[in-house]
Amino acid sequence: MTAKEELKNISRELLGYVRFLNEDDLSAEATTGTKVMKAITETKAMKAATGTRAATGTKGTETMKATPASRTPEAAKKSDNKSNSKQRQALEEIFKKVSTCRKCSLGTSRIKPVFGVGDPNAGVMFVGEGPGYEEDHRGEPFIGRAGKLLDKMLAAIGLSRDNVYITNIVKCHAMINPSNPDARGNDRPPGQAEIATCRPYLDLQIAVIRPRCIVALGSVAAQVLLGTSVGISRLRGKWHDFGAGSPDLFSGSSGIADMGIKLLPVYHPAALLRNPNLKRDTWDDMKLLHTFLSQPKSEL
Ligand code: SF4
Repeated sequence: MTAKEELKNISRELLGYVRFLNEDDLSAEATTGTKVMKAITETKAMKAATGTRAATGTKGTETMKATPASRTPEAAKKSDNKSNSKQRQALEEIFKKVSTCRKCSLGTSRIKPVFGVGDPNAGVMFVGEGPGYEEDHRGEPFIGRAGKLLDKMLAAIGLSRDNVYITNIVKCHAMINPSNPDARGNDRPPGQAEIATCRPYLDLQIAVIRPRCIVALGSVAAQVLLGTSVGISRLRGKWHDFGAGSPDLFSGSSGIADMGIKLLPVYHPAALLRNPNLKRDTWDDMKLLHTFLSQPKSEL
């Protein structure tokens, strides 16, 4: 790499980081992300064309070029739409079950179930712990200040809510006083029993979306998804194999433990708001994600 290219890379990275740090600049779209956005679009076409969970990355274009004439980008797009609509339908079916679910007590106090948003064919899923006040009232995960910061984290590497999938382990708001869902400051973390009861819905979502990787937002999500009690500061900064080490969590019916999905634990956006010193580490983690999504699966 020439000195000029190196400088260009450094300035691109710095620009992304500065935008990531600036919480007020919510409309920012990092230039570093342009390539990833392009890659995701290309990969979706490629996934449909090859019928596989192909890599998300710029090199995917080469693979698409090598596919037979019957797998033209137009055909791939059609097939992609078809598979998207099947996945969307499957998610809607799961959503219907969640909407009427009363399997744990959270179902009786919630205002709205918070199922998930985003691309049903996303290469990456972001999974948090559970909804809070704002989410309960809107029925959408990660809104409010922490959600806006998550949007910035996505934008810094060229992603958005439209091309990832965002959800939580627990779908209903856990409250200190369940008789007063309209009170602010009434949040509590979901209990172990609530997590275990709700977990199958997340497994189904994963089985339908079949992402290449999952980003666990915060300590609880990381520990539950990895089946460990190790703290987030030791889990973050590296990729883990999703499903390995927690066979008890999987019934085997969804087969998600065998999908080769990678998992990246990162600090929860709310933790970054409380402690901005964690942003440097989180930026490093987002770069890991960016690199992962830019590489073909075979090179990982
Ligand atoms: S938290 Fe999950 S298991 Fe409990 S009622 Fe809501 S959807 Fe059902």
